[in-house]
Amino acid sequence: MNHLRRLGNTVSIPIKADEDGFTGRECLNASCEGYFKIEFGTGLKGEGLPCHCPYCGHTEGHDHFWTKEQIEYAKSVAMRKITDSFHKDLKKLEFDHKPRGAFGIGISMKVKPGRPTPIHYYREQKLETEVVCANCTLRYSIYGVFAFCPDCGQHNSLQILDKNIEVVGKMLDLAAEAHADLAQKLIENALEDCVSAFDGFGRELCRVHANKASNPGKAEKVSFQNLEGAKTKVSSLFGHDLSAQLAPDEWRAANRGFQKRHVVAHKMGVVDQEYVDKTGDPNATVGRKIVITEEDVRSTVVVVRKIARGFAGYIVTTKQGDGVMSVNGGDNG
Ligand SMILES: [Zn+2]
Ligand SMILES: [Zn+2]
Repeated sequence: MNHLRRLGNTVSIPIKADEDGFTGRECLNASCEGYFKIEFGTGLKGEGLPCHCPYCGHTEGHDHFWTKEQIEYAKSVAMRKITDSFHKDLKKLEFDHKPRGAFGIGISMKVKPGRPTPIHYYREQKLETEVVCANCTLRYSIYGVFAFCPDCGQHNSLQILDKNIEVVGKMLDLAAEAHADLAQKLIENALEDCVSAFDGFGRELCRVHANKASNPGKAEKVSFQNLEGAKTKVSSLFGHDLSAQLAPDEWRAANRGFQKRHVVAHKMGVVDQEYVDKTGDPNATVGRKIVITEEDVRSTVVVVRKIARGFAGYIVTTKQGDGVMSVNGGDNG
C-alpha cells in the first residue's frame, strides 16, 4: 500500500484565486454566512492573522472562512487522490495463476479502472464593490457598499464617504465648464449627492455602533439629511456633539447647504418660510427660487467631511456603555 501510505494523514489541496486575484471567503456565523473575496498577499503582513467578516465583524482564523463550494471541491479532490492511490496499490496485487494440469483451476485478479471520483468544480461569485482598505491596503470585494476590512477590521464608512464626495467634486468641476442651465442642474445634483453620501455614512455608523447608544433601536433610524435634527439625536443617543469641532459659521453654512438641498428635493427649488426660519438666509425670499452656487456645495463638502471624521473618531473609540450611558453611570457613582 505504498501509494496510499505516501499520501499520509493530510492531503493539502490548493485553492486557486479567481481571474481577478481574489479568493472567496464565507462567514461561518450562522446568522450571517456572508460571502466576500480577498486578495491574499495584500493588506497586513504576518502569519496567523485573524480574518474579520466584512458584514457582521465576526473574527476567526483564515482557515475558518472556506466557502461551502471550496470545501466540496477540496473534499472531491482529496477523494480522487485517495481512490487513485488505492487503485494503484491494488493494481500491484494483480496476479494470474494459470491452471495446471488437465483439471487444474486457474485464479487471477485483474484490477479494472473504475469510474474516477468526480471533481466538484466551482466558480467564485461576482461581487458588487471592490475596496482597497485605506488603513492596511488589503484588496477585497463585497456585496453592497459598507464593510469591515477583513484584515485590519477597520470599517470603510469614511472611505466610502470620501469616494462619494470625490464624485461630488468632479460634478462641480464639470459644472464649471458646462452651459448655465446644465451647470445649475449639476450643482443641485452635486449638493443632493453630498447630502445622500453623508446620510448613508451616518446611518451606517449608527447601525454598526448601535450597541453603544442609549437606545439601539432608535440609533438605527437616525436620518442625517437634516443636520440640526441629526445633531440633536446623535447628542442624546451617543453623547456626541456633531458641531463640536466646527466654527459657528462653518456649522451654519453646512446647515444652510442641507436646507437648500431640502428645498430642491421637496419644494421644486422654491424658497418657503420654513427654509427662511431654519437658516436665516438673508439672500432668500419666500416664493422665489433658491440660489445654489458651486461655492455653497464646496463649503458644505468641507464641513461634512469634518463632521464625519469627528463623529467616526468619537464613536469608534467609544466602548459599549461609554458616552451617554456613562453620564448616567456617573450619577450612581
Ligand atoms: Zn459574518
Ligand atoms: Zn484594512
